[in-house]
Parts: sequence; C-alpha cells; structure tokens
Amino acid sequence: MRKNDSIKACGRTINYEIVYSKKRRKAAIVVRPDLSVEFRAPHGLSREAIREMVQKKAAWVQEKLDWFEVNRLPCQEKEYTDGEKFLYLGKEYPLTVLPVEGIKKAFASFSGSEITVLLPEPAPEELKPSLVKKAVWNFYSECAEKEVEKFLKAYAEILNIDIPAFKVKHQKKRWGSCSADNVLRINFQLMMAPPEQLEYVVVHEICHVKEKNHSVKFWDLVGELMPGYQVHRKSLKKDGWRYVL
Ligand SMILES: [Zn+2]
Repeated sequence: MRKNDSIKACGRTINYEIVYSKKRRKAAIVVRPDLSVEFRAPHGLSREAIREMVQKKAAWVQEKLDWFEVNRLPCQEKEYTDGEKFLYLGKEYPLTVLPVEGIKKAFASFSGSEITVLLPEPAPEELKPSLVKKAVWNFYSECAEKEVEKFLKAYAEILNIDIPAFKVKHQKKRWGSCSADNVLRINFQLMMAPPEQLEYVVVHEICHVKEKNHSVKFWDLVGELMPGYQVHRKSLKKDGWRYVL
C-alpha cells in the first residue's frame, strides 16, 4: 500500500511517499538521487507517528536532498545525438554519429576512445535519434551477452553446476534476477558500470541457483566466489542511478 504525505520543516516542505509492508518491522527513510523521499513503514504505523518520525529526521533528509541536487548529472535522459557522453565499462566516452551511404541498418561499435554509430544516409532528421538509440542498445546488449556468458562459464565451473540459461534485458528497476527454474536475467545497462559491478551481479544471481533466499549461507557463497564483493555491491547502490540508457 502506498500513500503520499508531506511535512514542513525549517521553512521547507518535504514530500514523501509512505510504503507499507507487512514484512517490515522497523521504519526507514530513503532519499533517492531523483530527489524522491520514501518512508518504509511496518504495517499499521499511523500517519501521525510517521509524520513525527520524518520531522525528527528532517535535517538529515534535507541534507541528503541538497547533496543529490548539487551532485546530480545535468540531464539523465539520453538524446542519442553526436557528441553526447556515454558510460561504458565505468568510463565516459563520446558518441560519434557517422552518416554512411549504402548501409541498411544503423550499427554501433566501440573504438577504444569513442562509441561510433554508423547511420544509413539519407535518413529523415527526426528519425535519427531513434535509429541511433536502437544501434546503441544493440551494442550494449551484445556486449553484455558476451560478458555475462564469460562470467557464468567461469563461476558455473567453480560451483560445479551447468551454465544456467540467461537473458540480457533492459530493465528499469533491477540489475538482475534468478527465476524459480533458474533462468537468470541481467540488465544490460550494467555495461555502463565498472566490470566488477557487472561481475558482482552475475555472481549474486548464479548463487541463487544454489540458494534462493538472501540467507547467511547465500552471502557466504557470494563471498567465497567473489571476495570483497561488498565494495562493488556498495558502489552499485551508490552509482547505479547513472547507468541509464
Ligand atoms: Zn538476490
């Protein structure tokens, strides 16, 4: 269940969304890089009690909001135009769009210093960004497929299991998942992250083949496969909002 509410503190209004959960025992406030505030509440906590708790944490919330405001990337929405910067394997590279006569499909590749998109010429101006976008998505998705397969091969061998079936996908809210029948789904936007973060997600999901829940046993297994995974898990939490295609 979700509800919106707001409080006033130090002359400013804090809008927040209350998300109730039956499983939750302790309340928590989350401030997101997109400047939204979420209050995670145990089932049955009154709006009044929540308001009081937000009031008490108001200074911290405002500090976080200010920080995200200042450190925000100027624009997250990609335009898919020549010269635009794209993250690839944790580093930023410019996109170079080259019109080419005689080709049928737009095609993207990485040269080492830029992401090049060959664009069929002539093409209507208004269609160009969507053609470039398609080529860029294909590029990231194909790279992800190769990388994920490489990691899965290596870790399946260590775990002594068959290489699980997997799909790379564009997902808005998850980095990866493992279904009940052990099909792994990995978000290809992870190709924008440093390679260790993609590796961590693959390790996390392949460990679910053996351990479905986030139990102590599960995290021990993750740690065995990838010592020091905590660093990458944390970095992904902190920087993940930048990996948007
Ligand atoms: Zn998990």
